Amino acid sequence: MVREQLEARGIRDPRVLQAMREVPRHAFVDEALAGGACGDHPLPIGFGQTISQPFMVAFMTELLRPRPDHRVLDVGTGSGYQAAVLARLVRTVFGVERIPELTLRAQGTLTRLGFENVVLMTGDGTLGWSRFAPFDGILVAAAGPEAPASLLAQLAEGGRLVMPTGTRASQRILLAERRFGGGIDTSEGIACTFVPLLGREGWPEGTS
Ligand code: SAH
Repeated sequence: MVREQLEARGIRDPRVLQAMREVPRHAFVDEALAGGACGDHPLPIGFGQTISQPFMVAFMTELLRPRPDHRVLDVGTGSGYQAAVLARLVRTVFGVERIPELTLRAQGTLTRLGFENVVLMTGDGTLGWSRFAPFDGILVAAAGPEAPASLLAQLAEGGRLVMPTGTRASQRILLAERRFGGGIDTSEGIACTFVPLLGREGWPEGTS
């Protein structure tokens, strides 16, 4: 997976590649799917949600520029797989997931695998998690019309937000970076398709 799907497509950060090697992707999906867990595609995790394809997880993680002293917010924690990859790379991961059953399952998986630096809650992640803000990085695994203002407000100076934005049909990976002493720089990257970010600063409930 790492050589053919990630290195071959330009993922270079050795720490990200190592984290992708170490986190067992199959542990985050139903046993029936475990055999194909490292395939070049998203994986269903129930409730109409998916874990992104390995390349997309690695691409977004690399773009976040995670460092060992960072505190990172993971919005749309789902199975907990992306949170686990981040947890290998930063000091603490704060995860927000809107579907309580998924939060519970992710917590169980992460505990079973021995991750102690991930804190999860069920809630609307478009509002961030103000109690633990500011964050050095914010990674959103669901697509919204634009970057939620609450998330941008919870970025530390020099912090980076990585998130798919666009219409429901087609999106691009947005990178927003808070400058030291002020404003926000944004740039748009590769095309992608994600499940919707549903909430106060995302798409309305019921959007599919
Ligand atoms: N990162 C996840 C991917 C899950 S798919 C993983 O590695 O498994 C995206 C997730 O975003 C879904 O679980 C969905 O329920 C969640 N989501 C959608 N809108 C949300 C919101 N406003 N707040 C928190 N989670 C949300």
